[in-house]
Amino acid sequence: MLDNLDGFIKALDLQMKSALNLQQVAVAAPKPEDEQLYCPKCSGFRRMKIIALHPHGIASRVWKQRNQSQLRNIPAFEIQPIENEQPSMFCLSCTQCDDRFTALIYVGPKGAELAIFSVSAGGLTTRNTDKNVAYFLDQAYKCQGGGAITGAIVMYRAALEQLLTQQGYPTKNLANKIKSLEEDIKNGYGSGHKWVHEIDVGFLKVIKDLGNESIHVNSGDTDTLAIIDAKLLAEVQVLFIELLDLVYEKPGQRAERLKMLQDAHSQVKP
Ligand SMILES: [Zn+2]
Repeated sequence: MLDNLDGFIKALDLQMKSALNLQQVAVAAPKPEDEQLYCPKCSGFRRMKIIALHPHGIASRVWKQRNQSQLRNIPAFEIQPIENEQPSMFCLSCTQCDDRFTALIYVGPKGAELAIFSVSAGGLTTRNTDKNVAYFLDQAYKCQGGGAITGAIVMYRAALEQLLTQQGYPTKNLANKIKSLEEDIKNGYGSGHKWVHEIDVGFLKVIKDLGNESIHVNSGDTDTLAIIDAKLLAEVQVLFIELLDLVYEKPGQRAERLKMLQDAHSQVKP
């Protein structure tokens, strides 16, 4: 995935070798996710084309001789020593909708860091996501893009709270909203929205708990937050995409399908 520095450099390397027709020297065939990033316009993970705007800073191309049997050196993108290095800048383009992103690799307090900014607002939204839920998802996306992973988790928790409020759980805090939803599950179909009976409530609880831990470090040691990394955030994203699809997209799709079948039936019946 392109949303972390190692993943970005790997994708850059793969695309450069591909452009130079050097696929045969790539160490392994790329997996689809190697070159993907969430595209807010497509509402899904899409392959991104990377265009180098200023590739000669902290992330630079170097020429390497892989082994003696290769007559020519091959290029590789690498993070350079941080002393006096300039930022490197890239443009990402969604291969499906052409939506654009700016990726910046800069020298931060701990060395090279990656920031990605989208021209489209909305973060993880889908076509019919409620606008107030989308607001928090956009904030989460911006936190994530700037490398504030803990902040992103807190915003995903806020988005979940807003989603449950919007779906008819007005009680004051997220734990109580989830309890009310569990009551609906216990009461069976007909109680609450249909999607409530199709979700594993454990997913909602884990987003709540991760958000709580991110904002109240009860151990007093922020080092414990290191577990919240880009990989964990990617899992939260996948989970949220499934939730948005279930809540905001599936009901409309089912209604559309039913109407299509009913229309077909009305035309064939005698
Ligand atoms: Zn797209």
